[in-house]
Amino acid sequence: MHTVTDPGSMSAWADAARARGARIGFVPTMGFLHAGHVSLMERLRPEVDALVVSIFVNPLQFGPNEDLARYPRNPEGDARACESAGVDVLLTMESGAGGAFYPPGFSTSVAVGGLTDRLCGASRPGHFDGVTTVVARLLNVTRCDVACFGEKDWQQLAVVRRMVRDLAMPVEILGAPLVRDADGLALSSRNAYLDVDARSRALSLHRALFAMASLASHGTTDVGHVLDAGRSLLDVDRVDYLELVDPDSLEPIEVLDRPARALVAAFVGPTRLIDNLAVEPG
Ligand code: AMP
Repeated sequence: MHTVTDPGSMSAWADAARARGARIGFVPTMGFLHAGHVSLMERLRPEVDALVVSIFVNPLQFGPNEDLARYPRNPEGDARACESAGVDVLLTMESGAGGAFYPPGFSTSVAVGGLTDRLCGASRPGHFDGVTTVVARLLNVTRCDVACFGEKDWQQLAVVRRMVRDLAMPVEILGAPLVRDADGLALSSRNAYLDVDARSRALSLHRALFAMASLASHGTTDVGHVLDAGRSLLDVDRVDYLELVDPDSLEPIEVLDRPARALVAAFVGPTRLIDNLAVEPG
């Protein structure tokens, strides 16, 4: 595995690979890698000649009171995980002052309208602009043909797909299923913040979602009833949102008479967690 620490070296490597006819696959991450990240690498590995993973804690997508400064890090473990997943190039960059990703005077922002107004976009102003700006630049820097994103971040995947479609970016976007721990908790780098008690309360997120899916599969079509049932199971300090939405438009649905997505964001102590699940009517 080749490690590069600046965008120029990354692009030079990618240009050489493309000149040889290589198809390049790309997985962007913020590091502290777990089995969810590795599943994205495994999803792409058989489909591409060269697999690139980036590790960059992107300051643009963090709000002023969020966890940028204390975001968990594990550079050695991350490199080992990438090596065993068959990664060809690890692009790893510091996010602080002197970080090499954004050029001096960088002043461009990529913003997707509409889809970003609700859900995580409503509670994290500017977050998705930070995501689409970094992803657009990373897709260009890595010259990738295909990039893979996790369904764990359902809204992010929808927003990235929309950006790529709207701007006719020459890249294919693949989604990969959400990976859970044995106890059902959606794997997340932020789970590192949870102590034993917080972790057991965090399990209420997926319990609520599975209970909602079960009600729907048994024939309940009343959205209010299903949301109330889910909300009653959440053992958290603050619910940011719990919604049943159209899987593509992310608009709230009125009646559960077609496939939907249940999405939740909630705080356990200071830690904000998200989860989501397919909800199919019975
Ligand atoms: P992050 O490092 O949190 O920015 O995530 C990098 C990529 O990994 C994103 O596309 C996430 O959606 C994906 N990802 C994170 N956690 C999971 C998970 N539990 N299952 C599947 N994909 C995940």
